[in-house]
Amino acid sequence: MDKIKLRSGAEIPCIDSSDADMRNLLSRNTLSMLHLKPDGEPVAYSKSPDGEHLIFYFDPLFVVEADPDGWYGDTKSETMTLPGGSVIERMGGRRAASLGYYSKENLARMFYDPIEEPVAYTKRANGEIVYFYDKATALRLPMMCVKCGRDVRYRHKLCKACFEEDLAVRRAEGELHRNKFYGMDPERVLFFDLELTGFYDRDEILSITIIDGAGKLIMDTLVKPAHTKKWKRTEKIHGITPEMVEDAPLLEDLIPQIKAIFAEADNIIAYGVSTDYSHIKYIYDTEEERMALHDKVRCCANEYVRYIHENRPDLSHASLIDAMECLGIEWTGVPHSSTADTFACKDVWNRLFPNYYLSE
Ligand SMILES: [Zn+2]
Repeated sequence: MDKIKLRSGAEIPCIDSSDADMRNLLSRNTLSMLHLKPDGEPVAYSKSPDGEHLIFYFDPLFVVEADPDGWYGDTKSETMTLPGGSVIERMGGRRAASLGYYSKENLARMFYDPIEEPVAYTKRANGEIVYFYDKATALRLPMMCVKCGRDVRYRHKLCKACFEEDLAVRRAEGELHRNKFYGMDPERVLFFDLELTGFYDRDEILSITIIDGAGKLIMDTLVKPAHTKKWKRTEKIHGITPEMVEDAPLLEDLIPQIKAIFAEADNIIAYGVSTDYSHIKYIYDTEEERMALHDKVRCCANEYVRYIHENRPDLSHASLIDAMECLGIEWTGVPHSSTADTFACKDVWNRLFPNYYLSE
């Protein structure tokens, strides 16, 4: 081997150290003794005496002054001399990383492999020496496709061809799942949404909307929270003020009605159902009743995420607003009100599952 190819694509020749002297090329070690560091790619290399590493030579026209805090450290800084005569400094991992120096293991994690001699080192508490290598001169390791082994990783650890093949299979499975005839009774499929005082389990419900698969409004009401008096943060989102719920029913008063509605349903669907479920489940006292509800619950957001993974891998956001935009559905009402969000959820679901219901 008398030439190597750098990451930039440039090829540099192997020379011996007398050639380097004749051409006034400088090794990294010489540069560091002059308080200089390279400001460009190496122009040639030689092999270290142990044959394990390369020593790079740099053009003296492309060097800059080294970081001054490396200059006067001689009294306290420790150094070691490598077999080839290069002197390297001991430094902490953080300083090394700030200079772009990493251990072989960390480089491997970034898919780099050092070929140059170490440029610094550190000592572990147990006395073990860890060498740091300059990432700038390390070789980029090929990133192999986990399926076919070709050296051109594209997405999800696969090459483009394997990714697309994989995507086509997943898409076909998804189409079957979405286009299947489910034979549901639209009156027994419910969509619901809650607006809340906050984002956590202990937060209270401020409004509930429930509609059926045909878009018939079953319940649409504000709810007066039993404990919470103010909810400034979520108020900005859904617009429900404490004054608005002053005369609304308490959740407690609505529970018998909600239970009766849910009891008649085969599916209860929400967008991002885990949040809604984690609040609505408290209308039931027993774990058994909660599990019965859980079994009927479906998440429209999960289905939308699956749809875009299969059909629009370019999209990564999956809010209800994103879903409506992606599927080209018009909003009725203002997003973030439970009424508008429930209708939107129904529209997204019915678009994703065109054969969900018994036809008339
Ligand atoms: Zn592949």
